[in-house]
Amino acid sequence: MIVATHLRTQNWDDIAMRVHSVTPSRAYAAIHASHPDIDDFIAMVSPAAEPYLEIMAQRAKQLSRSRFGNTVSMFVPLYLSNLCANECTYCGFTMSNRIKRKTLTLEEVDQEAQAIKSMGFSNLLLVTGEHETKVGMAYFKETIPRLKRHFPYLMMEVQPLSTEHYRELKQLGINAVLVYQETYHARRYAQFHLRGNKQDFDWRLETSDRLGIAGMDKIGIGALLGLADWRTDSIMTALHASYLQKTYWRSRVSIAFPRLRPCAGGTGADTFTLTDRQLVQLICAHRILHPQAELSLSTRESAHFRDNVIPLGITSISAGSQTQPGGYSDTSTTALSQFDTEDNRPAADVAAALVKQGLEPVWTDWLAGYGKA
Ligand code: SF4
Repeated sequence: MIVATHLRTQNWDDIAMRVHSVTPSRAYAAIHASHPDIDDFIAMVSPAAEPYLEIMAQRAKQLSRSRFGNTVSMFVPLYLSNLCANECTYCGFTMSNRIKRKTLTLEEVDQEAQAIKSMGFSNLLLVTGEHETKVGMAYFKETIPRLKRHFPYLMMEVQPLSTEHYRELKQLGINAVLVYQETYHARRYAQFHLRGNKQDFDWRLETSDRLGIAGMDKIGIGALLGLADWRTDSIMTALHASYLQKTYWRSRVSIAFPRLRPCAGGTGADTFTLTDRQLVQLICAHRILHPQAELSLSTRESAHFRDNVIPLGITSISAGSQTQPGGYSDTSTTALSQFDTEDNRPAADVAAALVKQGLEPVWTDWLAGYGKA
């Protein structure tokens, strides 16, 4: 069975009911389970587990250190284009927003690469809006080999593509592709995605299968926290991650925790909030269920929050991010940004904060260094 088929059999309302009927003793037992399963995860993200946050944090921290040592991998996003043919009500790049549109020329890509190199990064995340005709495979075939010369580990966050295109991207030098489902609740998904290919919920859900079949080294998943009830969306994410690990065991799994952020045009329809404590609870629950998964946190979160939560379970962070095309070589404006960032420290300051906590910032990917990637 493919991952997407498995996820389609899950009943959102049943899961939502289960998470709210967990008892405190069940939550406590889940945190201490020797081989936690999805039922334990449900208990750990339940309201009943909230009083046990400190115990969860201790277990998550211990698991992170024993699996990853003290390392935290550093990456930075490079926005290639803010063109987008979709209408998503929570994003500054949404088609109807009257912002200046820009796709980097090859010369501008080189300038951005140089600016990013001088910040110390070797791991790069390429980001675009979703515009298949203007920012599709033809553009990637020109830009990726150019960037690969400077960056041994390349990740991508672009529109869902076919298996064949993922195979091509892998050959071009892409090591990881991140495609977030935004929300696993199909009806709410429809409320936030009003126009364009992104309206196709199933095509997006099947993306990780296509990536697994294509043999991508790393597959990134996640929900945009705030579009629907975060507990149920996160349980779907956990099911997704577990099933991916079983089905496509040659690929690494990465889970991200983006919370909704203010953006040009506003977030649109009614949304849910997730408090800082709840986000910590969620990150710890994922670490306890998936000790080997990469857990990633972006600069959407504040410096204070990141400094406190990274030691508990986060193994990959972005730093020094600009969310507009051309933002590293020209930092004078944020007019084209996708969303507002909160942790605006220079990357070197973020790394220094990690060191202060006894962690080791890793600027390059070891697997790429050993020639696997
Ligand atoms: S979330 Fe992605 S697809 Fe939607 S408007 Fe933003 S860039 Fe486009």
